[in-house]
Amino acid sequence: MERLWAPWRMQYIGGEQRPGCLFCRVIEHPDDPDAELVVWRTEGAIVMLNKFPYNPGHALVAPIKHTSTLEELDDDQGRDLFGALRRTLQVLRTTMKPDGFNAGANIGTAAGAGVPDHVHLHVVPRWNGDTNFMAVIDDVKIVNEALSQTAAKLTRAFAAT
Ligand SMILES: [Zn+2]
Repeated sequence: MERLWAPWRMQYIGGEQRPGCLFCRVIEHPDDPDAELVVWRTEGAIVMLNKFPYNPGHALVAPIKHTSTLEELDDDQGRDLFGALRRTLQVLRTTMKPDGFNAGANIGTAAGAGVPDHVHLHVVPRWNGDTNFMAVIDDVKIVNEALSQTAAKLTRAFAAT
């Protein structure tokens, strides 16, 4: 994956990590501040925007089950997760019109997982030339505002069909 320059990730690197599992927290507590970024829930999976995105629409698709790796999901849980991934690609393609996607999982801290205890898939929309575009965005406040707007837009899109 080509490296994107995302200055607001400095906030992430510099701290502001809250204790406990992010995914279990928003699954169990819909009133948690981070649950604002949840755009879709199904019986077996949850889709939320990454608070520290590499690109607009950067989504995280996680199973409801708290487990650190994909092979611990049973067939139903795996099907639910993959179904949520397909739906996420479909909604992002329709609403954000990307030219491509990076989609995949970082499993384990050694592989770069930010939440290593709860496995999740990253879906990053990509646009032709987006590495250049990203370099000009350097205001965290603007990005955060865009994040909640994007969350509201995607929540409607997931609910629409
Ligand atoms: Zn968890």
